Amino acid sequence: MKNDDHIVLQDNKGKTDNFCEQCKKEDESVKQNLIMHGYKICKSCNLAKTIFPI
Ligand SMILES: [Zn+2]
Repeated sequence: MKNDDHIVLQDNKGKTDNFCEQCKKEDESVKQNLIMHGYKICKSCNLAKTIFPI
């Protein structure tokens, strides 16, 4: 068995996509930031946004 693959958990009901609106990458932090801040962004973009507010 190889555990090298990055397997995304798919237990989530519904189809909530985890794609960041900024960098278009998929990250599970996107959903958390959407819930917490209302932004569909990943943690690295969220960090950049905090440091460099638009
Ligand atoms: Zn991002």
